[in-house]
Amino acid sequence: MSFDESQIERYARHIILQEVGGHGQAKLLDSSVLVVGAGGLGSPLLLYLAAAGVGTLGIVDDDRVSLSNLQRQVIHTSDALGTPKVESAERAIRAINPDVTVITHEERLTAENAMDLISAYDLVADGSDNFETRFLINDACYLARTTLVSAAILRFDGQLSTFKAYEGEGHPCYRCIFREPPPPGLIPSCAEGGILGAVAGSMGSLQSTEVLKELLGIGESLSGTLIIYDALSATFRNVRVKPDPTCPLCGENPTITDLTMHLAETGESCAVT
Ligand code: ZN
Repeated sequence: MSFDESQIERYARHIILQEVGGHGQAKLLDSSVLVVGAGGLGSPLLLYLAAAGVGTLGIVDDDRVSLSNLQRQVIHTSDALGTPKVESAERAIRAINPDVTVITHEERLTAENAMDLISAYDLVADGSDNFETRFLINDACYLARTTLVSAAILRFDGQLSTFKAYEGEGHPCYRCIFREPPPPGLIPSCAEGGILGAVAGSMGSLQSTEVLKELLGIGESLSGTLIIYDALSATFRNVRVKPDPTCPLCGENPTITDLTMHLAETGESCAVT
């Protein structure tokens, strides 16, 4: 891939990085990422991935922009109230970087569409707001052998990790850590529990950095490490997480071999984002 003059200028601060260079930038332009949720995490994620020149960005979201979103979902603006989030996000991305192709999926991610959607992209970033979707994405990414960078936020706290259990030894999946969704109501949603808007920005930005590292193949992958951020005490903890041989998805005797178990599930439930 050769760059035109405006691209050389646009990506100059990437190209000058030894670990990125022209080769890495070309890789980013050639990459595709599916972002699930154009909300608190999806907003900074999409903005930074677009600015970085990730060539194709898919966005899955079936929601419309509402006033209570704007406290943290910084990709949307007041004049976008009432419009589908995928449309509003697409507009913002186009304004930032014309190099990026945006593919909008104005729908929920479901057991029926997950494999097709996920298989079409190089990597998935989960910014969803409920446990059912988180488990569905984990299972679908494992089955599709697609790397997943997953973040979650609530109140003043955030979590972040990367999952590529399909690579085998040493790589856990989300289910190795959190076996199954908690009972509805146990963990409040952001609507119930609240969220400091800037915490969404912090976690979404960290998530976008991990996405770029995975696409570029640089640095240490977060696979096998869970980052836990406590904004009130301003501390980060890195917790080592190991694959669980009894994991029903990636363990020695898997019982989840397709997405059938997700078919019965219906949307509304408790949320982390
Ligand atoms: Zn597992």
